[in-house]
Amino acid sequence: MKAPQHNREIISLIAELNQAHHYQKQQIADSFEDGLILFSSALHPRLINTQAQALLHTADTDHFFEQLKLYSQKRQTKRFDLQAWLQRCLHHPQDCTCDEVLWITAPDQNVKSSVPVKLRAYPIRNRQQQLDNLLVHIKDLSIQIQAEAQMRLMDASYAGQFITNAQGYITQPNYAFCAYTGLNPDALKGMTYIDWLKKQVTLKVPFGSVMESLLHEGCWSGEVQISASSDAQFHAVLSVSMLTDKNRNIEHFIGVLQDITDIHEARSEIERLAYYDKLTGLANRALLHNQLEATLENLPASQSHTALIMLDLDGFKILNDTLGHAIGDQLLILVAQKIKALVPADALVARLDGDEFAILLKEISQDAEEAQQSALSTAYKLQDALDDRYTLRNRTLHCSVSVGVYLFEPDLSQGQSDQLIGYANLAMHEAKNLGGNQVFQFESRLCETAKQRLEMLQALNHSELDQEFQLYFQPQMNARGEAVAAEVLLRWFHPSLGFVPPNEFIPIAEEGRQIIKIGLWVMHKAFIQARAWNETYGQQQPIRISINISPIQFHEQSFVELVIGLVKFTQVDPHVITLELTEGVLIRNTLLALQKIQHLVSLGFQISIDDFGTGYSSLSYLQKLPLHELKIDQSFIRHIPDNTDDVAIVESILKLAQTKHLAVVAEGVETQAQADFLRQQCDDLLIQGYLYSKPIPAIEFEEKFLQRAQ
Ligand code: C2E
Ligand code: CA
Ligand code: CA
Repeated sequence: MKAPQHNREIISLIAELNQAHHYQKQQIADSFEDGLILFSSALHPRLINTQAQALLHTADTDHFFEQLKLYSQKRQTKRFDLQAWLQRCLHHPQDCTCDEVLWITAPDQNVKSSVPVKLRAYPIRNRQQQLDNLLVHIKDLSIQIQAEAQMRLMDASYAGQFITNAQGYITQPNYAFCAYTGLNPDALKGMTYIDWLKKQVTLKVPFGSVMESLLHEGCWSGEVQISASSDAQFHAVLSVSMLTDKNRNIEHFIGVLQDITDIHEARSEIERLAYYDKLTGLANRALLHNQLEATLENLPASQSHTALIMLDLDGFKILNDTLGHAIGDQLLILVAQKIKALVPADALVARLDGDEFAILLKEISQDAEEAQQSALSTAYKLQDALDDRYTLRNRTLHCSVSVGVYLFEPDLSQGQSDQLIGYANLAMHEAKNLGGNQVFQFESRLCETAKQRLEMLQALNHSELDQEFQLYFQPQMNARGEAVAAEVLLRWFHPSLGFVPPNEFIPIAEEGRQIIKIGLWVMHKAFIQARAWNETYGQQQPIRISINISPIQFHEQSFVELVIGLVKFTQVDPHVITLELTEGVLIRNTLLALQKIQHLVSLGFQISIDDFGTGYSSLSYLQKLPLHELKIDQSFIRHIPDNTDDVAIVESILKLAQTKHLAVVAEGVETQAQADFLRQQCDDLLIQGYLYSKPIPAIEFEEKFLQRAQ
């Protein structure tokens, strides 16, 4: 069947009909794709072709108009007067097109099954040029209207959609597709979908694989990036399907483009949370691990040396405790920014915990010496630049860093990232042990030291307090040269490790929390000693005993209860006991610390601030807490009276103590010059130091300082 595409075909058809015999006419009319009705000039249907019969649901030429259900609207409210229209066509043959879309309903059907049609009449003249027939062409619009509805649906969709013809030219882009691509329908219609892919789409897989799955599986779907213009880029899922006829000839390609920028952003956010540090935006430990492993995997191929730099702020804990976490956080952010700016662009900078940063310098060089020089130069650059003054909330403070460097060879195997971090960490700790503010490159002997630390930890766990530990006492002298007080200093003699100085084991015992048990033991023994000496020698003047309290011990929930228990048990008078606390303790958890201190003071204990002046003291705690004594740190005493800065510091501490009515102990006094200077400044200060005595066992202390005074 051939479809009458335009008037000319109808006109030649009319000519054919005119010449045909009556019995042939039906056949000729039936060969049309569309419906045809031939009316006489009296408007009697002479011929209804099969298409028209099917559309109009009637073949009855006698009762044609009565049976016809033709409406102007789909809802069947307004019947279309076909007879009147045909009359008009007869009288105005030049105006024979009916512009309306009409709806035909089958006699036994409802509106849903209405078929849209368009009518056009062709007057037919006989040889004498008289109008004797009217041919009506009925065009079924179902498919066209369906396509339009589909297009409207497509346009209503938020997803971009396009349909191509068999050659791949984009014939139907929907509204969203035009909007996403920034291309108008005309521009798109001149393009195949492949032209468009090449122009705007960045695939995550090779182009060939897309084509392959399209041709073999009939569809492809994947994440892409669309660059509609240089400033309009977004992430999307693109699905392309191929439609074929039953002979597998391509008919159309259909594309659907879904903007997934939101999902993509959410996913990046999740990734950011999982792999990045919230505070500084740097990588976190997990990401460092991943990248280290990936680097290790590449090493055999690249044969390059790689370095891991570990960096830790000096004294950050004190700063954080004394100035508060908000300022600590700000400092970390500043430091993170500085590190980022100082290292090569391809280096990974991570924040591990607190104030610990790691920098992975990937594949520096194949030459070992060159790699070492480059890594060390970065490390020194970092150390130098970070040793600086930082202004935070109108406060300027100084900070420095300890840097550990670990350089690794290309022949390492995977799964060792933990160990590598451990080595860099040991190097960093060594830099810290050496006084901080320096760079230290890993040496294998550090593993030995770490092993010793572990041994010490184990030894502390199994230590027999009464057998291995001993209290030493160091006198605090008044202006008349009398030992009116003594600081208790702990000594550890381990059966195999030998003598271990407190500066070495106390931090480990704090880390492992054994300090709680040890500290309690110290207090117990010191209380007994204090009671005994005061009973024997304290009639005229009490002998005060100062005990160091570790922050870990102090922050234990039951600390005050334990102290009360010991007072009852030992029958000591708390008025002869001074508890030495560091500034950090007083500032952290202030409210809770305040309650504990008030409770202890109400029992009769005195509170001393140890190492005074070394913290970043806001000093506001001096106002809030009921304190009794300041201990000037040894570092300020060491260089007096020559160093004018230290002299000024000591003078101002003394002045402060005077206004706050606090007693003062100067510790670490080794020379007569130091003692003389201090005495000149303040008559009633107590002096503790090697000048008078090193810390000594109780018996010795008793002989030297208590019995002789009698
Ligand atoms: P600290 O509380 O600042 O103790 C003073 C330290 O200075 C003691 O070191 C003491 O021996 C030393 N010293 C005293 N006079 C001089 C001097 O003239 N010159 C020099 N160079 N040093 C002097 P030690 O005994 O090695 O203790 C070190 C630290 O260990 C103590 O510092 C304290 O923080 C801690 N510690 C000692 N015993 C205990 C304890 O029973 N409990 C707690 N929690 N910590 C303790
Ligand atoms: Ca002390
Ligand atoms: Ca001290």
